Amino acid sequence: MKPAVFDYVRPQDLAEATGILSKIEGARLLAGGQSLGPMLNLRLARPELLIDISQLDELKRFEDTGKSWQIGSAITHAQLEDAGEALGTSMMIVEVASDIAYRSVRNRGTVGGSLAHADPAADWPLVFSALDAVIHVRGHKSRVRQIAADNFLRAAFTTELRQDEIIEFVDVPKPSPSARCGYFKFCRKAGDFPEASAAVVVDPDAGRSRIFIGALAGAPKPLAEVAKAVAAHGPGAATEDSLSAAIATAIPDFDSVAVRMHAATVQRAIQKAFSK
Ligand SMILES: Cc1cc2nc3c(=O)[nH]c(=O)nc-3n(C[C@H](O)[C@H](O)[C@H](O)COP(=O)(O)OP(=O)(O)OC[C@H]3O[C@@H](n4cnc5c(N)ncnc54)[C@H](O)[C@@H]3O)c2cc1C
Repeated sequence: MKPAVFDYVRPQDLAEATGILSKIEGARLLAGGQSLGPMLNLRLARPELLIDISQLDELKRFEDTGKSWQIGSAITHAQLEDAGEALGTSMMIVEVASDIAYRSVRNRGTVGGSLAHADPAADWPLVFSALDAVIHVRGHKSRVRQIAADNFLRAAFTTELRQDEIIEFVDVPKPSPSARCGYFKFCRKAGDFPEASAAVVVDPDAGRSRIFIGALAGAPKPLAEVAKAVAAHGPGAATEDSLSAAIATAIPDFDSVAVRMHAATVQRAIQKAFSK
């Protein structure tokens, strides 16, 4: 199928983009087009206007503030995949980026597009939740808001974003040098979205130990008690039984197969974190 007819505009800056968004209800942002493109073709989305933000310099910033990295929303997965040295202590970000789909998707798909699209199986909502990142959004007349990554997804394909808001950048606190970070996703086929995923950040020196599971029906879920136990006693504290119990409590709808699949995925992520 082909998309329904739409208008197209390429604003000069963020202020112009939010201004248009605030005035035209049927407007939709276009970044890498990797999720929106198929939705347009299938006519699941029928915006009257596409606002192309993929070339806005304000959204392409990548900054090291000393304490954190600020990753512009129009930064592509491929740019993060190639940012090895710049990301220093967070090779997890590089690893995650390089494992999203395949290079042609990564060349276009953006961090902001992935967060805003809010596919529960997507990698960035999960990883940024575990890293305790904060999403900075900008609305009309330069109104800014900061939303914790673990509060950003309300449900599948639904976020905290308001109609006139654009994700500007994601502020990712730098893990300390002693931090243990690991990510694992279980995919039926290479390049597919995962059926289970887990992100682990065990960083007692920074007072931050977080484990989240993803590829659920909605937003990623924390396994706070497991994270606390692993931070205190090491990876051995996450036994199959303790993980299964924590997951069954966090998601009571899961059947035993889903519990096992997610428990094994968390265990792999913890093993990865502690094997480096
Ligand atoms: C074959 C294939 C496999 C994939 N596999 C994976 C995978 O394994 N893991 C994974 O995480 N992802 C995967 N993806 C999705 C990919 O990561 C996309 O990049 C991402 O979902 C959307 O990013 P985009 O820049 O293309 O956004 P677009 O498609 O341009 O936009 C998506 C949505 O976000 C909105 N939007 C875009 N930018 C902003 C912004 N800055 N502020 C507010 N709203 C915004 C748009 O209006 C639209 O609603 C896959 C995609 C494909 C096509």
